[in-house]
Amino acid sequence: MNHNLFATFARRMQARGDADFITTREGHAYSHAEALAATARLAGALTELGVTPGDRVAVQTDKSPEAILLYLATLRVGGVYLPLNTGYTGDEIRYFLGDAEPALFVCRPGNVEEARKIATESGCPAVETLGKAADGSLMEVTEQAAPHDDIAPREPDDLAAILYTSGTTGRSKGAMLTHRNLGSNAEALVAFWHFSEDDRLIHALPIFHTHGLFVACNVTLMAGSSMLFLPRFDADVIFEELPRGTVMMGVPTFYTRLLQDDRLTPEVTANMRLFVSGSAPLTAETHQAFEHKTGHAILERYGMTETNMNTSNPYDGERRAGTVGVPLPGVEFRITDRETHEPVPQGEIGMLEVRGPNVFIGYWRMPEKTREELLEDGFFVTGDLAMVDERGYVHIVGRDKDLVISGGYNVYPKEIEQVIDELDGVFESAVIGVTHPDFGEGVTAVVVPKEGADLDEAKVLGFLDGKLARYKQPKRVLFTDTLPRNTMGKVQKNQLREQFKDIYR
Ligand code: ATP
Ligand code: MG
Repeated sequence: MNHNLFATFARRMQARGDADFITTREGHAYSHAEALAATARLAGALTELGVTPGDRVAVQTDKSPEAILLYLATLRVGGVYLPLNTGYTGDEIRYFLGDAEPALFVCRPGNVEEARKIATESGCPAVETLGKAADGSLMEVTEQAAPHDDIAPREPDDLAAILYTSGTTGRSKGAMLTHRNLGSNAEALVAFWHFSEDDRLIHALPIFHTHGLFVACNVTLMAGSSMLFLPRFDADVIFEELPRGTVMMGVPTFYTRLLQDDRLTPEVTANMRLFVSGSAPLTAETHQAFEHKTGHAILERYGMTETNMNTSNPYDGERRAGTVGVPLPGVEFRITDRETHEPVPQGEIGMLEVRGPNVFIGYWRMPEKTREELLEDGFFVTGDLAMVDERGYVHIVGRDKDLVISGGYNVYPKEIEQVIDELDGVFESAVIGVTHPDFGEGVTAVVVPKEGADLDEAKVLGFLDGKLARYKQPKRVLFTDTLPRNTMGKVQKNQLREQFKDIYR
């Protein structure tokens, strides 16, 4: 039996035939059968360009149906797909090409000159281009190459992709993901979220990240459903498309932006059956406001590049605001002491560790980091602090690296942020630890006021006094117009720590 994930997808695509697979607002579309045939042509081009099983194919292109077909064609020839954030600059690309040593780099037509130069320096033998409108040199090679109809045989533990982490806490790491990792997670999510052939996914996420690539596209392929590819999140477009969609997957900022709009009503979301949120914490307030305005309880799930999805709120049962739900079938987890890895009693905060067929096999060319985080018994140390409530729902408390240790006490930023956010006039907040001469780290709040709000440091501190233990109360409250976020809506606390590093000196 061929364990190539593409073999499973190909069977589904064959069976779905003329049914839509991927469409754009501009009317660029592929049925499942057309997409399947196109992957054979693209696979022919990859073979002609020298890609053989196990070779990495690095890709930095704009979002388009062809970019997904390229992912599928890479799997088809047994290659390892390696997507890169479209925001990466030349120096970053140099690092990734040097690190991953791909056999082929596919870039945007406008970047080809710089890409060629970097590829030569990094020893990458081939560079081709792929544009938004199915243009570029890769498509020209495709037209001339003989289709590659075979599906390269792969074992469950063979690599399917190397996906770099978001780099929120430091330099991005290449997570090695296998055919089993991706396939098992897609199957689990299809069942857990009740995906079917009738679903039409509104896809407004980037496709270089686990959320938009694997969660969204692998689930669509596994279920034989269809997706509308949008280049980015644009509220005007989303409101036009909601009546034709059944599912949307988003980062929390999608939902906060929709909530700011009067067009968000039960009517406009009446055809939708599911809204999913992940990649960053969705506040309980956003969850409740969305339900109040539409009748839909957003389903929050939790995952990461290294593990795909680990937990999800239930489809049928209660979706608990502020929690990431329960472990997906097949995923084991434990909450442990940060230092000893010994399990802590139920209800206490500790490090979240997970094990299962979804968990990656290591960081690309980082054996030490792999040994530190992937324990001998197979559990992966996620780096996230969590607590399990009495009903088994997981609460993500924050990242271990964002924990503030002030005067020897552990302060969990989320707890403080939640209280600050209750104050009238606060739009959002971020709590960080900043080096402090007496306390080691000083609890520091960065607050974004609502438009026209009349807030100052004394007001915020006065509000917190009595609501939080002394040691948890911020030493300073600073104001800013917006929190720094990356494309996945993750608050970049590293940047805030850097920006305010000298305030207690
Ligand atoms: P890096 O590992 O390079 O520092 P990163 O951890 O942000 O970056 P990703 O793999 O993209 O890279 O993100 C996974 C992380 O995102 C998780 O470890 C967790 O901290 C956060 N996350 C994902 N979903 C949720 C969620 N529903 N609630 C809270 N946090 C979430
Ligand atoms: Mg991470």
